[in-house]
Amino acid sequence: MSLDVGNRLEWLSKSVMGMLRSTMRTVWVAVLATMVAAAGGASVPIRGPAFAFAQARIGTRRTDTGHRGPGFGIALARKGPRHTLHLTFDADMTAGMLKRLQAGKVASWYDPAIVQYLRDNQIPAVIFASGMFAETYPDLIGRLARDPLFAIGVHGYRHAAFTANCYGLPFLHTDAERLDDLTRARDTIARITGRAPTLFRYPGLCRDAHDDALVRQAGLTVDTPTVVAGDSFNDNVDAIVRQVIRQARDGGTVIFHLGGPNAPVTLEALKRVVPELRKQGYEFARK
Ligand SMILES: [Zn+2]
Repeated sequence: MSLDVGNRLEWLSKSVMGMLRSTMRTVWVAVLATMVAAAGGASVPIRGPAFAFAQARIGTRRTDTGHRGPGFGIALARKGPRHTLHLTFDADMTAGMLKRLQAGKVASWYDPAIVQYLRDNQIPAVIFASGMFAETYPDLIGRLARDPLFAIGVHGYRHAAFTANCYGLPFLHTDAERLDDLTRARDTIARITGRAPTLFRYPGLCRDAHDDALVRQAGLTVDTPTVVAGDSFNDNVDAIVRQVIRQARDGGTVIFHLGGPNAPVTLEALKRVVPELRKQGYEFARK
């Protein structure tokens, strides 16, 4: 055997050993990464083939940030589907609001740019319209109802509260009045949209224990929000954004309003909340 052949053999065996060592390292890191990912995530980023292996192994997708907010660290991988959040927009109309609109004191009780933003970003939503709102803006409500992105829910007929002392709203005193308001609102929405609504939201969210039975009697289901954005009579965008981000949970329902003078910064808040929630792994779904 010449020296040359010996050198080549030595070089070849070193190369093979090197490849083996590298492969073993990848396998070990993959095992480690899988254990970390299966345990719910890591606070340090792991990259490369081992990371890809770990992802494929436990069937997870990587997200850039932990959904529990800043300081939680970088979530490497998360089990199961992404988180779902339902956005809803109340469209209020009281007799007083209608008077101000008709007198020309208010240009509009909703912001068309909010609807446009939802469409542009393909964000499904439920619009809870009071019957008087639907009668005032039948074209809008009809268009929204025909768009598969949206559903129209019932928000009372004249946006009157079911209990006394509810944010100064007019008050439905008897069960007969409440049932009458419910059925009138339901029938108004059904006539304008061409389909029977199913969801109901209490004006001002005020209710007594027995009110749910009245709602059921009207063939509607009470929708209970988990996050009140606090965008009505509020021009503090930061506060609204903070509130929604802090209270967002998988399967939750957020109340916004459809804009207008009583919800002046909803669009601005939405433009910050939506990208942040999407970054945290939330998907928006209609009810
Ligand atoms: Zn309302």
